[in-house]
Amino acid sequence: MENLQVFQVCPSIPEPVRFLDYLSKNLWWCWNHDAIELFRRINPVQWEANQRNPVAFLASISQRRFEAFARDDGFIGHMEQVKARFEAMFSFAPGFEKLEVGSTQTIAYFSMEFGIHESLPLFAGGLGVLAGDHLKASSSLGLPLTGVGLLFRGGYFSQVFDLEGWQQERYPEIDIFDLPVQRALDSQGNEVCVTVESPHGTIKAQVWQLKVGRLRLLLLDTNLVENSPFIRDITARLYTSNLETRVAQEVLLGIGGMRALERLDIFPSVIHMNEGHCAFAGLERIVQIMKKFHVNMDAAFETCKRTSVFTTHTPVAAGHDEFPPSLVLPYVRSFARKFNITEVDLLGWGQMNHGDQNNGFFYMCVLGINLSGYLNGVSRLHGTVARKMWTGIWPGRPVDEVPITHITNGVHILSYISQQKAALFERYLTSDWAGINCTPEMVQRIDNIDDEDLWHVHGIDRSRLIRLCRKVMFEKYSRRNAPRDVLDAVSSVLDHNVLTICFARRFATYKRADLLLMDPERLEAMINSTTRPIQIVFAGKAHPNDNEGKQIIQRIMNFAKRDKVRHRVVFLEDYDINIARYMVQGADVWLNTPRRPNEACGTSGIKAAVNGSLNLSILDGWWCEGYTAQRGWAIGDNCDYKDTAYQDSVESQALYNLLENEVIPCFYDRKRGNPPQRWVQMMKESIKMALGEFSSNRMVREYTNRFYIPAACNMARLTADNAGGAIELARGRQRLKTLWKNLRVMKPSMPPDTGFKVGDTFTLSTTVFLGDLTPEDVEVQIYFGRLKSLDRLDGGRTKTMTLKAESGKNIYLYTCELNCSDAGRFGYTARVIPQGDEILKTTPGLMTWAK
Ligand SMILES: *Cc1c(COP(=O)(O)O)cnc(C)c1O
Repeated sequence: MENLQVFQVCPSIPEPVRFLDYLSKNLWWCWNHDAIELFRRINPVQWEANQRNPVAFLASISQRRFEAFARDDGFIGHMEQVKARFEAMFSFAPGFEKLEVGSTQTIAYFSMEFGIHESLPLFAGGLGVLAGDHLKASSSLGLPLTGVGLLFRGGYFSQVFDLEGWQQERYPEIDIFDLPVQRALDSQGNEVCVTVESPHGTIKAQVWQLKVGRLRLLLLDTNLVENSPFIRDITARLYTSNLETRVAQEVLLGIGGMRALERLDIFPSVIHMNEGHCAFAGLERIVQIMKKFHVNMDAAFETCKRTSVFTTHTPVAAGHDEFPPSLVLPYVRSFARKFNITEVDLLGWGQMNHGDQNNGFFYMCVLGINLSGYLNGVSRLHGTVARKMWTGIWPGRPVDEVPITHITNGVHILSYISQQKAALFERYLTSDWAGINCTPEMVQRIDNIDDEDLWHVHGIDRSRLIRLCRKVMFEKYSRRNAPRDVLDAVSSVLDHNVLTICFARRFATYKRADLLLMDPERLEAMINSTTRPIQIVFAGKAHPNDNEGKQIIQRIMNFAKRDKVRHRVVFLEDYDINIARYMVQGADVWLNTPRRPNEACGTSGIKAAVNGSLNLSILDGWWCEGYTAQRGWAIGDNCDYKDTAYQDSVESQALYNLLENEVIPCFYDRKRGNPPQRWVQMMKESIKMALGEFSSNRMVREYTNRFYIPAACNMARLTADNAGGAIELARGRQRLKTLWKNLRVMKPSMPPDTGFKVGDTFTLSTTVFLGDLTPEDVEVQIYFGRLKSLDRLDGGRTKTMTLKAESGKNIYLYTCELNCSDAGRFGYTARVIPQGDEILKTTPGLMTWAK
C-alpha cells in the first residue's frame, strides 16, 4: 500500500489522574520506585505484558478503569506524592557555581547508545547503560547537559535459541508512538529536521526529544518516507555489520547531531564524545565555531580541542571502529573544502600514520582523540591500557605521559537497587540516601542495619530472581509445546535457599563465560552437594556475527541440559536491563572472568555490589580498585599472561579452589540457624563501597570538576573579544609547527661521576639550538629516573631547566640542579616541549629529545 494516511487515538485520561500521562513522558519515572508502583498498580499483569512501557501501557487501559482510579482516594494520594517529588526535582538549584553554562550552551553528550530503560531499544550493552546512567545522574546533579543519539526502531536484537542451543536473532520493530518521544521544535515552533550529504543522497533526519528528568535527549531518525530505503535503514538497527551503514550512522550521529543542536539554538560550550562512534561531531563543531566567531579553521580547531571531552571504552581492538578511508572520504570531503585543507590532511586526523599518504585505516577513536583535549579511559587499569594502546598518536612520548587519564565508571544506584533494599536503606540512612547529598557518614550507617533484616530482604530478591527464571523457562518450553512433566520440571527449577551465582554479560570470547565449565565434573559436584549446593544463572548475548561467542553459549546450554544439573543451571535468554535488574538484585555471588586486561570497567559488578551481591572476579576493570578481602574475592592475581590456554587453566583452578574453600563455606556458615555472619558483613562492605565510591553521581561530578568546568572556562576565555585568545593560540601553534623541526638539544652533561652520596646535589647543563623559536616558546626539561635496562627508565620524572646563558646564533645554555634523594643507578637525558597549556604541551610531534 502506498500513500497511507494515519491518525491516532489517544486515551482520554480524566482530569484528576491526567498527571499519569505527563509522567509517562518523562523517563524520571523509571528510577523512582514510587512512580513505577503507581503505574503498576493500575494493572500489574498488563504492565508486564506491555514490557513496563508506560506509554503503551496507558494506551491499553480502558476508559472505565481510569475513571475508577480518578475516584479512588488511595490512588490519588499515591499519585500526589509522586507528583510532589517530580515537581521538586525541577525546583532544585544546581550546585556547580564555577560552571557558567546557560541553557543555550549546554554540555552536549553524544553517544551511539543510551540504555535508560528496557522499553527503549536504544542500546546494546554496557556502553549504552553507562550513557543512560550519565544522563540520569546529570539530571539529579542539575548539570546543564543535553544528550544526542539515534532513534533505533529495531534496537540491537532480541535473542532466542533453537533446539540445539544456537542463538537466533530477531528484530522486532518498535512503534514510535509507543515511545515517550516528542518532535523537537525550534524557536518558531517548527518541527526540526536536519540534513547531511552522503554518497547515497541527502540524508534527512527528523529530530525527536526524550525527557530524562530535567534533561533532554535528542534522537535522530531517518525513517521518513522521502528517504531512500538505504537511508531509512540508517537508524534501523544498532551495530549492523554493514560498514556502509555504520559510517552513515556515525556521520549522522556526529554531524547531524551537531546540526540538530544548532537548529535548536544550542551552541554547546562543551561536547562529550562517548566512544569513537560520535567523533565526527568534532568536524561539524569546528564549522560552527568558524561561523559563529568568524575565525579560520586553525583557531576553531584549537577552540574545539580545548572544549571537547573524549572517552574510550574498550581495550579490545575489535571494539574500535576502523574504516577504509575511501568509505569515509565522500562524507567528509566538503569539510576539507570548508577548512581549506587537503583531503589527505583531513583523513590524517583519523589515521595513525599522520601525513603518510598510504591507505592506513581511518580510526574513529583517533579522530576523537585528535579533536579533544580531555581524554579518559573508564577505570584505572583501563587508563593504563589506553595510554599504551594509543601511544602511537604521540611519537616519542613515554607511554606514562600519554595524555589519557581515567575516570572510573559508576552506576545509577536508584536504577538498579531493589525496591526492598531501597526501603531498608532509606530507613537506616536517610530519605535522600541515593541523592546528591549522600555523605560518607551516611554511607557508614549501612553497618547499623540489622543482619537479619538485610539477609531477609536479600532472600526476597533471590526468590524474585528464581520466580523470573521459572516463568521464563515455562514460557520458553510452552512455546515448544513441551509435555506436562517437562513444564512441571522447569517451573520448579532452582531453589530458594541455595547459593546463587550469576554471570551476565556479552558473550565475547575474552569474557570467558565458560571458564566455570573448564572442569564440568568438578562443577557438577559443587552443584549437587547434598549439604552445600550451588546454582547458576547465566544470561547474555553474542554479537550476531560472533560465532565463537555463540559456541560458548551453546556449550553452556548443553551443560545446563545435563540430567544431573538441569534443576540448578539456567540460561535466561534475551538479556536486557530488566533481566539485569533481577539478576544483580538476587545474586549471592556475581561472577566475572574476563581475560585481563580486556575488561574496561565491568559496571554490572557494581550494580551487584549495590545490592549486596558479592563479587567473585578476575582483578580487571573496576575490581582492581574495588577489591579488598572484606568485600569479595579476587580470582588469580595481578598477573598478565602471554599463553592464554595456560592462563585459562590456572585461573579456572583458582576459581574452583575459591568456590570450594572460601565462597561456599562462608555462605553456609549458619550458627544456630542465624544468617551467615561474615557473609552479611561482606554484603555491607560491598554496599558501602558501591555507594561511596562507584555511583554515577561520583562519576559525573568527576567529569564535571576535571573536564566540563575547565572546558567551559576555555570556551569563555578563548572566544571572548572576537575570539582573540583562540586566534592567538592558533598562530602560536602554527609557528611551533613550522619552526619546531629545526630545534636541536645536546646531550646534557654533569660533573664527573665522583661517587655521589644520598643528599648530594649537582648541576646538569645542556645546550639547545632553537632556530627561529625563542626561549619563551619552549620548556627544556631533564628527564631522569632509576635505570630499568640499558635504555629504559623505570618511571621517568621531569624537572624544568632554567635558561643560564645565550651564546648567540640562537644557541642557549640551560641548567638545573638535581638532588640525589635515593641510592641506586639512574639515567637522565634532556628534552624540549612547547610552553603553554597542557594541551599545547602534549601536541603530538612536538617533543624533541637530546641527541
Ligand atoms: C550494566 C549492564 C551492562 C554492562 O555490564 P558489564 O559488566 O560491562 O558487562 C550490560 N548490559 C546490561 C543490560 C546492563 O544492565
